[in-house]
Amino acid sequence: RVVSAAPVSPQEEAIERALRPKLLDEYVGQAKVREQLEIFIGAARKRKEALDHVLLFGPPGLGKTTLSHIIAAELGVNLRQTSGPVLEKPKDLAALLTNLEPNDVLFIDEIHRLSPVVEEILYPALEDYQIDIMIGEGPAARSIKLDLQPFTLVGATTRAGMLTNPLRDRFGIVARLEFYTPEELALIVRRSAGLLKVDTDTAGGFEIARRSRGTPRIANRLLRRVRDYAEVKGNGRITEDIAHKALAMLDVDPQGFDLMDRKLLEAVIHRFDGGPVGLDNVAASIGEEPGTIEDVIEPYLIQQGYLQRTPRGRIATLAAYRHLGVTPPSSRSD
Ligand code: ADP
Repeated sequence: RVVSAAPVSPQEEAIERALRPKLLDEYVGQAKVREQLEIFIGAARKRKEALDHVLLFGPPGLGKTTLSHIIAAELGVNLRQTSGPVLEKPKDLAALLTNLEPNDVLFIDEIHRLSPVVEEILYPALEDYQIDIMIGEGPAARSIKLDLQPFTLVGATTRAGMLTNPLRDRFGIVARLEFYTPEELALIVRRSAGLLKVDTDTAGGFEIARRSRGTPRIANRLLRRVRDYAEVKGNGRITEDIAHKALAMLDVDPQGFDLMDRKLLEAVIHRFDGGPVGLDNVAASIGEEPGTIEDVIEPYLIQQGYLQRTPRGRIATLAAYRHLGVTPPSSRSD
């Protein structure tokens, strides 16, 4: 995948950090989420209390990590960051929790991947700012209660449905991030181009925005690849023509779909007669993890109306046939 939605190298991550908006006012789009957070953060600040725990969910690259940093900055507190798979043992989480200062934010990315024993000690922490930890070993071992400072957990996940019910119930604020419109992405591209000092005209920036799968991370990444192209094949300026050519070279089609998107649609149409086909079958046929299809590839295809998710499996819509230039079977008319 030339332009995957997940960060790939430490270098890319550093660039991403540099492009991250720091405050709510600079955060583009997601108007509903922004408005809610503005009110709840304002109220928490006024009462000098910890903000309620926040669950952010949505596909990768839509700004969950960014928002967690913004929440801490707007609250004027520290942010501690970790992720579900990194917290292997209860004591890993206990160490983080006991070091928090009053009203700090603890960000746990991929929170659906917490192990059950770690999740277990999170419950009383979230509810009463207390944890039970084991002291000593063997017969002498005993459990003691420790008081924590009040804090805010910000959890991020690609799928809210993967969380256990008791965990989900402990979040007072649940926000779903949506794909961005091309206009919103154009603002993000313009801002990033400014920070990276890339000369980009309006049409060139919009072309990148339009083909970024509704995802800021992809928009920023395409901007950098198109800049490379402009420097080598042009005079460094990103115009519509340069963006067109660079994106074609990157296999990003006019709809913004990349190789994997097309591979998925082609498999459903050619190998499974347009569907319905079960997730595992189509995953095996294109050699991709079912989880990756579900979290990364299909949400955008579904949102754009190229794929449908039904109880009997995935179905390619007529738009998908049209996009790939395939004549739909005569039995299909939707
Ligand atoms: P996630 O945690 O959901 O995978 P990130 O928060 O890491 O996504 O965002 C990926 C990149 O996209 C960041 O570098 C950030 O600069 C950019 N980004 C995300 N959301 C926005 C936004 N609303 N406005 C501007 N830039 C954004």
